[in-house]
Amino acid sequence: MTTLKLLNYATDRWTAGTGPLTEVESAVTGDMIALTGSQGLDFAGMLRHARTVGGPALRRMTFHQRAWMLKDLANAVMARKEELYELSYDTGATRTDGWIDIEGGAGTLFSFSSKGRRELPNGRILIDGAMEPLSRGGSFVGQHVYTPLQGVAVHINAFNFPVWGMLEKLGPTLLAGVPAIVKPASSTGYLTEAAFRIMIEAGVLPPGALQLVMGGVGDLFDHLTLQDVVSFTGSAQTAMKLQTHPVIARESVRFIAERDSLNASILGPDAAPGTPEFDLFVKEVVREMTAKAGQKCTAIRRAMAPAEHIDAVEEALRQRLAKVKIGDPREEGVTMGALASRAQLTSVRAAVAELAKSARIVAGDPDTSPVAGNGAFMSPILLRTDDPWHAQAVHDVEAFGPVSTIMPYRDLDDAIALANRGMGSLALSLFTFDAQVAEDFVLGAGAYHGRMLILDRTSAKESTGHGSPLPVLVHGGPGRAGGGEEMGGVRGVTHYMQRTALQGAPAVLSSIVGQWLPGAPKVEGEVHPFRKRISELAIGDTLKTASRLVTLDDIEHFAAFTGDNFYAHMDEEAAKANPIFDGRVAHGYLILSFAAGLFVDPAPGPVLANTGLEHLRFLTPLYPGDSMRVELTVKSRSVRNEEMGEVRWAVYVFNQKDEIVASYDLLTMNLP
Ligand code: NAP
Repeated sequence: MTTLKLLNYATDRWTAGTGPLTEVESAVTGDMIALTGSQGLDFAGMLRHARTVGGPALRRMTFHQRAWMLKDLANAVMARKEELYELSYDTGATRTDGWIDIEGGAGTLFSFSSKGRRELPNGRILIDGAMEPLSRGGSFVGQHVYTPLQGVAVHINAFNFPVWGMLEKLGPTLLAGVPAIVKPASSTGYLTEAAFRIMIEAGVLPPGALQLVMGGVGDLFDHLTLQDVVSFTGSAQTAMKLQTHPVIARESVRFIAERDSLNASILGPDAAPGTPEFDLFVKEVVREMTAKAGQKCTAIRRAMAPAEHIDAVEEALRQRLAKVKIGDPREEGVTMGALASRAQLTSVRAAVAELAKSARIVAGDPDTSPVAGNGAFMSPILLRTDDPWHAQAVHDVEAFGPVSTIMPYRDLDDAIALANRGMGSLALSLFTFDAQVAEDFVLGAGAYHGRMLILDRTSAKESTGHGSPLPVLVHGGPGRAGGGEEMGGVRGVTHYMQRTALQGAPAVLSSIVGQWLPGAPKVEGEVHPFRKRISELAIGDTLKTASRLVTLDDIEHFAAFTGDNFYAHMDEEAAKANPIFDGRVAHGYLILSFAAGLFVDPAPGPVLANTGLEHLRFLTPLYPGDSMRVELTVKSRSVRNEEMGEVRWAVYVFNQKDEIVASYDLLTMNLP
């Protein structure tokens, strides 16, 4: 194999590092396969380029445009995924490991693209929560909003997921409208560089949106400002070094840290041998030890079982581990590949030696390579301690490889306390079929863990497993895990934005956020708004309907027709006895139906379908003899594709005294 000369991508140009380059070896053969380095880069210039070229270009785009861009990037990665798999084998990864990294990475971009188009506006400002009334007359209100940071996201990634690690950070960053500088770990950066190159060659990114550093970051940190974000994934030691950089403290630079974690998995007190939960637990512990050769920040490092079942757990794990086939990940049938490098092998061996001072090895041999040659192979190592309260190392030392320690617990409180002894983790799993056990565990341990998987026989088949961070769920954890948070759908996007509390008149705030807010002007036109396409509708366009009387006959007819004979509509005495009503009242659903009858324009036209109601509240009872009228206002609109889009209407139903009877958002699909 020819040696790859890895390039940096700075100010929209591929640039070789000057000076001595670092040799990178194949995890499988130990042969040199790449040379990498970033010396000579102008880091201040890269930051400037991102801030002055990439940021403004991304911020000119709407959330939806950026979401479409993510989809194009994901498609580009998928179209050339085989090139990436080929390189991925050299990182020691099997095809399944590579799938998590490569297709899981693209899937994360797809997920953010979809979230962006469904949950974010087709605008540039994101509303956070509801409008807050701040004055009696309603002329002065508050609204929280998010706008993109105007700096750069510096992404420093760990070696274990060279593609996913980059893409899970880029998804939310680019969707937020922030340019990024990516710095992969040196040992597997050749795979990151290839995936990065595919995205650049897709030609969908604006200039300055992405840059790549294939080595050290030089003086980059010296030039960070309050508008920048550092998203770091890696060891606690490096995180500490970077987090305490004086510029980070002085400028209050946002620093998201994803560090190591002594994740726990607990066999519930009810999950005795022979139960489905026992088998699921054993399967999951082995899967977490061997997937990616255990080089997952979320892998199960501590497996806990009731003291009476610990021997059975050990035996079942040993049997299952004996079936693991270790070898060159390109070979058919291999279920566990190599560690990412020989340096990593050395470091895992050292960590196992540390663990072995307070726990004994019951399966595997850390010091003998299970595969001949110079590859970074290691057999899965299972350790056991029977006194977890006096074996501090098992709660402290992360062996970032196929290594896990089993330990007994006395009762649920003991299990909770042991799980929390990791002092903050990314993921915890509990195998129980007892809802009370699950509730007690969540209350006792929730504050110490970023994600909790509660697995039983009903969810196992479709479960995504203990170790998989998901784009729609928060990834990160307190304390030792770094205190950071990534992804979690739109939450992850806001990590790259600034929240600002706006105060002012509803009309002003409404035009800023591109959404009609209560108190903003309602504009009545000549044409019924149902006769307008989305492109012709303006925020605030309003229809004010005529009013209609609601009679007792109407209520009785509605009750007979629908079968809703609830006493509040049908029994005067019983309705009166109810503390809310003065007598029989109109059904809420009748009010909604009559409201539609008042505002609908019936002929075929731009409105295609009613897709739902949100935030429905009935505020004032409507009695027989009252009348009702409706005001229907365009609250927001968003084109989904060339065929249709969604209009959100603010609907208010008033009675003859102009009291609000009902309010809700009506959603319709309309022609664009
Ligand atoms: P690491 O040695 O701390 O390196 C992490 C990243 O930091 C690499 O890109 C590394 O680049 C870079 N780096 C190191 N020193 C730096 C410096 N002075 N300035 C700027 N960048 C610097 O960690 P690792 O060995 O790659 O990763 C393994 C660790 O990461 C494990 O402890 C694991 O638990 C943790 N991890 C956590 C998560 C999570 O989401 N919480 C995910 C994966 C891994 P070079 O490679 O070029 O040195």
